[in-house]
Amino acid sequence: MPGKCALSLSRPLSLSLFLAILNEIYVLSLSSHPSLLNEYLFMVQATGIHIKDNVKNIGVQVLEQVVRGGYNINGTDYAYDFNLSESDVPPTTYLPDSFTYLSSQICPERLPSMKGRLEVNMSEMALEDVERFLLNAEPTMTLGGYWKPRDCVPRWKVAILVPFRNRHEHLPILLRHLIPALQRQRLQFAFYVVEQVGSEPFNRAMLFNVGFREAMRDLDWDCMVFHDVDHMLENDRNYYGCGDMPRHFAVKLNKYSYMLPYNEFFGGVSGLTVEQFTKINGFPNAFWGWGGEDDDLWNRVQYANYTVSRPQGELGRYMSIPHHHRGEVQFLGRYTLLRRSKERQSLDGLNNLQYSPLLSRRPLYTNISVSLSRKLAPIADYN
Ligand code: BGC
Repeated sequence: MPGKCALSLSRPLSLSLFLAILNEIYVLSLSSHPSLLNEYLFMVQATGIHIKDNVKNIGVQVLEQVVRGGYNINGTDYAYDFNLSESDVPPTTYLPDSFTYLSSQICPERLPSMKGRLEVNMSEMALEDVERFLLNAEPTMTLGGYWKPRDCVPRWKVAILVPFRNRHEHLPILLRHLIPALQRQRLQFAFYVVEQVGSEPFNRAMLFNVGFREAMRDLDWDCMVFHDVDHMLENDRNYYGCGDMPRHFAVKLNKYSYMLPYNEFFGGVSGLTVEQFTKINGFPNAFWGWGGEDDDLWNRVQYANYTVSRPQGELGRYMSIPHHHRGEVQFLGRYTLLRRSKERQSLDGLNNLQYSPLLSRRPLYTNISVSLSRKLAPIADYN
């Protein structure tokens, strides 16, 4: 093994964590990517990461790279993005505070109201208090959380879709944080919280498909943002409009030490135009439990000849609310499904989706409750 490695532990490791790390290192050493082990150890050293809290996440992501070697769709190596430097970010120009808005003109994308770095307040608050606070600040919001700027024509009509189950304390934090940022970005928007009821494993992707269908029945949105409830953007210059290409917004997460865990990572927060989302047949419905559905979406996007675009530098930073997965099971069959992403794309998605939703309007969002089961997304002649 070239290079030296000196790990210093700031706190004693628990036995289980120690065994988990040993196991990861052992698996890495057996893998066909021996350099990954060095990278892994290097990262621990180079970034000064707090070992107890972060090694496990990073180890898991490095392992992810190894596993991914097995179903790489385009035959290229997976690139790491371990570069913590922001110096490659080109200088950006935002309009000056003196900029005059015109109600007949399209709102610009780089507005003076978008100040950059945000403070993230993770403290819990009752939904009713957040409603009162936000409606007080912006009385033009209407039931269901619809809002649009009045001093210019919104560039995008954005439906924010939030898959949900049993995270009642997280939703107010997200709304309190994100709504004012979207208003500063002068986007037209509304939130759709798609809540899974019943006892089946969580199906984030199918909830997004349901949310998409219901949002489109509601209004002629042109841009969909697929948003985890526990992800808080750290920079309001991370513009939530769509573009010529599908967008991955949540590039650098604090839980991955602000590094992209792997090049094909498409989780957390992503956005597609209605046209793009329809063209790729939406998300797959077949991913029950945690993991893989965002990887499948990435594959779908590639097969449709799109290239994912991402915000640069620190614009793509997010903090996630720390929590346990509350019994959500990891979907172990995801790698098998991912190997056949291409052939499933036209069979499983928006076109085989059935469901019966229950809608209710709340001051800041529309709630869509839906019970999901495998029978609701049948695939003929395929297993
Ligand atoms: C899962 C993805 C997830 C990623 C990062 C992967 O193993 O398949 O769904 O987004 O890890 O946590």
